[in-house]
Amino acid sequence: MELGLRDRLAIVCAASQGLGKAAATLFAQEGAHVVICSRDSRRLAAAAKEIQGVAASGARVLAVTADLTKPAHIKRLFRTALRTFGRIDVLVTNAGGPPVAAFSDLDDRTWQRGIDLNLMSTIRCIREVLPVMQKQQWGRIINITSFVAKQPADDLVISSTVRPGILGLSKVLANRFTREGILVNSVAPGFILTARQQEIGAVRAKAAGITPPEYLEKLGKTIPAGRLGSPEELASVIVFLGSERASYISGTTVNVDGGFMKGII
Ligand code: NAD
Repeated sequence: MELGLRDRLAIVCAASQGLGKAAATLFAQEGAHVVICSRDSRRLAAAAKEIQGVAASGARVLAVTADLTKPAHIKRLFRTALRTFGRIDVLVTNAGGPPVAAFSDLDDRTWQRGIDLNLMSTIRCIREVLPVMQKQQWGRIINITSFVAKQPADDLVISSTVRPGILGLSKVLANRFTREGILVNSVAPGFILTARQQEIGAVRAKAAGITPPEYLEKLGKTIPAGRLGSPEELASVIVFLGSERASYISGTTVNVDGGFMKGII
């Protein structure tokens, strides 16, 4: 299937590793130019080199160091992308995850940081691309959220509080901008094996008095697919939603969870 991504520009946030990196890699393999960001310039440069190494011919990869909790960094990221490529076709919003903790262990500072990291960064990134996409009358916005947006988790309190807001925002924006060719969707990953998942696994394993590998093995058995997912499995869905082929999909959230979520919606 031809996805129509050649020469388009995709910005993938928080892409030095994990889900963002996998999505950026697949966009580049499909011929899109890619701009990636994260806080750690050394790791980001290494990721950009790796992605460039597997990119389709002609696809360029640009790394911009940015802390997504900082409004000025977000502005610089989009200004640099626009100055370099003259267009922005796809935005994948993404960031690191908030801490694993119970409600009673969270103070105002930690809450505010989680809100800045996972809610405000998405709002600010979308604000930067909308005027550009409106001018183009073409755009794709894909928000990486979490299964907790639909099925909250007791020890992921900030995530469970903030992510549903992104689904509400996506719907509002899809209602308003789909008629201008800008499609807004979200993906809700379940358990995808990344550094973040290992980190959560280590905390939960400790609480359960088992080793992290034992925890991950047990977790896999609770998922109908019988295992955790790979970043590439999530990336395939993101890249499809970012493509020409997703032309009649807007305002929706795709679960990528091996059947983990139990609800109907
Ligand atoms: P990860 O920890 O492997 O990667 C996170 C990326 O975010 C890294 O590139 C890191 O440098 C970057 N980052 C962190 N803080 C940043 C900041 N302030 N500014 C810029 N970049 C920053 O995590 P992941 O598994 O790829 O998860 C990505 C997102 O998806 C997280 O918000 C996570 O909570 C969410 N999520 C992941 C899973 C999963 O199973 N992996 C499931 C549900 C939701």
